[in-house]
Formats: sequence, structure tokens, C-alpha cells
Amino acid sequence: ASTWASVPQGPPAILGITEAFKADSFQEKINLGVGAYRDDKGKPYVLPSVRTAEKKVVDSALDKEYAGITGVPSFTKAAAILAYGSSSDAIKNDRIAITQSISGTGALRIGGEFLARHYPSSKKIYIPTPSWANHNAVFKDSGLEVVKYKYYNKDTIGLDFDGMVEDLKAAPEGSIVLLHACAHNPTGIDPSEQQWRQISDVVKEKRHYPFFDMAYQGFASGDTKKDAFPVRLFESQGHHFCLAQSFAKNMGLYGERVGAFSICCESAEEKKRVDSQLKILVRPLYSNPPVHGARIAAEILNNPELNQQWLEEVKGMADRIISMRALLKKNLEDLGSKHDWSHITSQIGMFAYTGLKPEQMDKLAKEVSRICTKDSYDGAYMHQHSVYATKDGRISVAGITTGNVKRLAESIHQVTS
Ligand code: PMP
Repeated sequence: ASTWASVPQGPPAILGITEAFKADSFQEKINLGVGAYRDDKGKPYVLPSVRTAEKKVVDSALDKEYAGITGVPSFTKAAAILAYGSSSDAIKNDRIAITQSISGTGALRIGGEFLARHYPSSKKIYIPTPSWANHNAVFKDSGLEVVKYKYYNKDTIGLDFDGMVEDLKAAPEGSIVLLHACAHNPTGIDPSEQQWRQISDVVKEKRHYPFFDMAYQGFASGDTKKDAFPVRLFESQGHHFCLAQSFAKNMGLYGERVGAFSICCESAEEKKRVDSQLKILVRPLYSNPPVHGARIAAEILNNPELNQQWLEEVKGMADRIISMRALLKKNLEDLGSKHDWSHITSQIGMFAYTGLKPEQMDKLAKEVSRICTKDSYDGAYMHQHSVYATKDGRISVAGITTGNVKRLAESIHQVTS
């Protein structure tokens, strides 16, 4: 038999949606499965600040030598300031150990590996229910045991704050707790600032170890400082924690894989020891990270003019998402939908958790539309909804445009009434 005769066929990944979308011949089909920003024409968007920064990087004709194990220092230094704030005690006292990573996923993986090796107590990590689908696999493969805490209340399509606090209190003292810093994926539901303060208190009381995943800083509210609120709060409250940062969404650097993993340490001396272990961990994984994307991000973060431009462009993306939420809700209401759609606008970030059931999501993809007026789109009278998104009812708001929101609302209205 062949060497791999007994390798089983794995299930299709999330990309199944994209395949179904591609195979659909209906011209007005809508893909709300993608986790990447689209402009109002539905096209991928490269930020003008990124174009300018990239040109500067190319024009400066740098060599292609290796970066150090922890990456491009001008990038990691600026990334830490972006997250923690320049006036934070941790930055001022040089007690943040940081390494560049293969975007957010790589940062989570380095964190998982570090905790599996060095965390002094339980190797369990508590993640919210639900959480980004990859969290489970990343942490499991890092050697941690993944446990869930309550987060989403399907009855209110909101945060189950009491359930969350109850589970954090019930977890053994010193547990590792993963927290989405902002724009919780997949629900788009974040704790309020007041609730974050309470979470901070519980985490402190129980001596838990927080692990922040911040994949959307600036992309959620449009304000990088506001989105970093929980991270900065925890820092100011004297927590020791670690942080995964991604520049995929907020700089649109998806495929460049720009990210950082940092540990907020007790002292500069501790930071040195932690830093040495991060290097020991990274070296056999990939030796050192790619430089191009990090150089672009460094240029944007360190050049005051470009930085200002970037902050405006992030806000532009966040604002478009926020306005598409409002437009979708309005269109549903205008159609006479009897449902309460207020969660669409109270949620934040790239995704809306609609509360639609798997059967309804199936219908959205495949069912033939019942009514279809001529003015809703050109021509045909019968068509499938052809709206593609994940079965859990999560839709990517980035895939909504002024051009497709009306037809989308009609389809959602039909499968929910
Ligand atoms: N964490 C969360 C919550 C995410 O939604 C994502 C991206 N979908 C990531 C991490 C990592 O993404 P990337 O590796 O592209 O930075």
C-alpha cells in the first residue's frame, strides 16, 4: 500500500463558502463569508497610506538580509506603543517583551507555545463560547487544553455577562483566559467599559492570566485608542498579561502577515529573561520573520504624517462598516420585518451575528426568491437568494455595499418571516 493510504480525508475548511460562491452563476450573488474588508464596490482595498509606505520602502532599496529572530525592531517598538500607549507604565519602564509574528495567528501560536512551556500552573486556556474558530486548534496544537467560558446569549443576541463572570469565577485560580480585546469574532459583541472593569476585578481576584487577542485595533470603532481600552485598562490595573496583535485588518496587510506577540512583564529584568525564551522558541519554528510587511507597517507607525493619514483611513473603513450596519437594519425595517434588528447596529467590527439559524442560512444560499421586483435589480424575476455566509448566522458586514444591501435585506426578510 502507499505510505499515505491510511491518511483520512479532512473536512472542507471555511473556504467551502467561497467555492460555493464561485460556482454560483447568478450575477447578483453576495459573499458575506470573507473575513476581509471590501470597498463599496465590493472590491479588496489597499489603503493609500500602505501604498505610499510601500513605495518608500521599495525606493529606499534596503537589502534583503535576515531580520533578527524577533523581527524588525522599528516595527515591534511602534506596535507596542500602538497597543499599550506611549504613556503606559509598561512602555516607560521597558517591561514589554515583544516579537514580530506571522500576523495574529502566529502571535497566538507563539503565545500558546510560550504558555505551554513556561506557565507555572494549569495548562488550561479558557476561550469564549463562541470564539474565532481557529483559537481552539491553535491552542490545542500548542499543547494547551482548551476550555470554554460562557459569552453569548442567544436569546438576547447579546453578551451573557453574568454567565461569563460566573464561569471566570468558577475556573481554578490562575487559569489562562483568552479575551478578545475588541470586535469579538464571530459575535461582534463586546463588553462595555464598565463590564471590562468588572472583568478586570474578577481576573485579579482569581489570579487568572489574561491573554488578549487584538485582531481589530482601530477597525472596530474607528479609533485605535478606544479599541485598545481593555488592554490599557488591564495594564493600568497592574495585570501581567500577554497580547496578540494583527495588522491584517487595520492596515489591510492580510497576506503580508504582519503581527506581534508581547508579554507585559513585572520588570525590565523579567522582560530580558522572557525575551530570551521567546527567541529560543521562535528560532526552531521559522528562524526569523518576513521583513517586507513589517517595514511597511513601521513606516506608517513611525512617520507622523503617514500615521495621521492611516488613522483617518482606518476610521474610513470602520465608518463604512458602521453605516452598512445601519443601512441593513433600515432596509429590514422598511420591508416591514417584525424582528428586532437592533443588534445589527449595537454589534461592532467586521461581523454581524444575525441570530439566523443554520436552516435559514441554507435558505439564504440556495432557496429561490419568492418576490423579486424589477427595481431591486436588473431583469430576472426568479433567482436564488445566493447569499453566502457561515451557518452560524455570522455575516461579514464588509461584504455589504450600497449596491447590494437592498437585495440582501429582502432575502433576509424572506427567510425570517
Ligand atoms: N484573531 C481573531 C479574533 C481573528 O478574527 C483573526 C482573523 N480572522 C485573527 C486572530 C488572525 O488573523 P491573522 O492571522 O490574519 O492576523
